[in-house]
Amino acid sequence: MIPEKMNKAINDQIAKELYSEYLYLAMAVYFAEKNLDGFANWFYKQAEEEHKHAMKFMHFIIERGGSVKVPAIAEPKLKAKKYIEFFKAALDHEKFISESIGKLADLAIEINDHASKSLLQWFVDEQVEEEASTEKVLNYLEMIGDNSGAIFMLNAELGKR
Ligand code: MG
Repeated sequence: MIPEKMNKAINDQIAKELYSEYLYLAMAVYFAEKNLDGFANWFYKQAEEEHKHAMKFMHFIIERGGSVKVPAIAEPKLKAKKYIEFFKAALDHEKFISESIGKLADLAIEINDHASKSLLQWFVDEQVEEEASTEKVLNYLEMIGDNSGAIFMLNAELGKR
């Protein structure tokens, strides 16, 4: 049986993962509307990943006899104007999620919840990848600046994800 405190904390995390999905969907359609299909593809894939994260947490709670709360999701408000700002915002968001996962891992250790500790270790590792893959695109954009030819090439590259 999942400890009540952990059940509640994971439900809060599910809301964050689903919000992440919405945030990346909003970014994906922004690029899709501009016919930058590669950039759009990168964010669609990112949104799919977030959906899987939420599901992984949901299944875990159910398996351990807990109770899942399906949350209301707020509409993401995009402040980014330049392409690079979308990736900065995405990286900031992933850092926020990593911190949140870290707090969950702390809680699992504090209450000796070994099953949650194991699941959360997977998420800790996953966040390292999430941050790295976002930072990689951000670095490319920093390098190429406003060079439209290079942006076109990066768009093609991101379409392969
Ligand atoms: Mg996630």
